[in-house]
Amino acid sequence: MQADDLAFDSRHIWHPYTSMRHPLPTYPVVSASGCELTLSDGRRLVDGMSSWWAAIHGYNHPVINQAMNDQISRMSHVMFGGITHPPAVELCRRLVALTPEGLECVFLADSGSVAVEVAIKMALQYWQARGEKRRELLALRRGYHGDTFGAMSACDPDNSMHSLYQGYLPPHRFVDAPQRRFGEIWNEGDDRSLTTLLAAHNSTLAAIILEPIVQGAGGMRFYHPEYLRRTRALCDYYGVLLIADEIATGFGRTGEWFACNHAGITPDILCLGKALTSGALSLSATLTRRHVAETISDGDAGCFMHGPTFMGNPLACAAANASLSLLQDESWRQRVAAIAAQLSAGLMPLADHPRVYDVRVLGAIGVVETKQPVNLAPLQRWFVERGVWIRPFGKLIYLMPPYIISPPALAQLIDAIVDALTQPAHFLS
Ligand SMILES: *Cc1c(COP(=O)(O)O)cnc(C)c1O
Repeated sequence: MQADDLAFDSRHIWHPYTSMRHPLPTYPVVSASGCELTLSDGRRLVDGMSSWWAAIHGYNHPVINQAMNDQISRMSHVMFGGITHPPAVELCRRLVALTPEGLECVFLADSGSVAVEVAIKMALQYWQARGEKRRELLALRRGYHGDTFGAMSACDPDNSMHSLYQGYLPPHRFVDAPQRRFGEIWNEGDDRSLTTLLAAHNSTLAAIILEPIVQGAGGMRFYHPEYLRRTRALCDYYGVLLIADEIATGFGRTGEWFACNHAGITPDILCLGKALTSGALSLSATLTRRHVAETISDGDAGCFMHGPTFMGNPLACAAANASLSLLQDESWRQRVAAIAAQLSAGLMPLADHPRVYDVRVLGAIGVVETKQPVNLAPLQRWFVERGVWIRPFGKLIYLMPPYIISPPALAQLIDAIVDALTQPAHFLS
């Protein structure tokens, strides 16, 4: 890419969460393979981000590419209204088998946020069909569920700046983020805020929505599985639906197939996305229990009121099937465990560093929370000059590499973080 391409980019193209007036720099990537991104000047960067949780098998994977090529030569897309096709049927069969017992009915869509919209609409239509006026959601502070309006309404109100859209967002109820961490001893009372709110408001609540175990974009926090078990039990007691948003955590990232498996629970509605295709194409799925699907279908509308144009896109389904076939032999478990061990050994010693507030590792996720927010532009440039792609936000410098990463490449990522902490210019004061 030429300099004028970059100039055009910064003048005309929005990038996520950056100013159109003073945009943060962008780095031109022309190809990617395995765990490496190649810049247009030929430099190669070790990828520590899996392109936001997605590329679990790395880039340009031959098996996924082959599956997509085979599918392209048959058809890349066909409408899903009145039509079905082998890649969708195979994918949904796999998802029903893999996900927690009891989730039987699958809705395919094109992004994570839409999967969350679908989950919320399912919960609303479920209660509508039962003749109950339940319109509220209960969500956790520090949660993140996407950027569309319905999803955003369930995000942490401060992180997602609900104040900007006041009057337009449906008001929901929020409970304190769980405090007790994964791996600690459970603390009676950690679910007090939840218990109190449910006792008071259960009759108007359609659903509780949460990210199981890992709160991702809202702070990269790992909480205790008992919190999830208690939530499930409270939902059962009060008859409130439980929506688990596993868009970030699904497909092995936390060391289990799904984060819900850490607590042995089945949600009523489950959202999947991101790693579903290993980042090859955008695809999401919302699964629910048969009872929920049938109740919705018995309501006034007679059906669920949603149907995206690219629903069940065959090419994306083919990529997902290939990705799932790569996970099938469960060898990812050893890889994720080895990544966890190396992340712990490399990052945990930073816990005593004067710039560091906290270090935590779960599965193939390693987080260094700093005391001061990072100064993103210089820190990003420094990482790129070191040959690594790490994209911090706020006070969080974190790694979630592809599962296929080699120990030396992971060491390069870890060393870059360790060294980054020595540079005062990388932090705001
Ligand atoms: C990324 C994410 C979403 C939104 O997915 P998009 O594909 O970006 O729309 C929703 N929930 C969680 C937990 C996520 O991490």
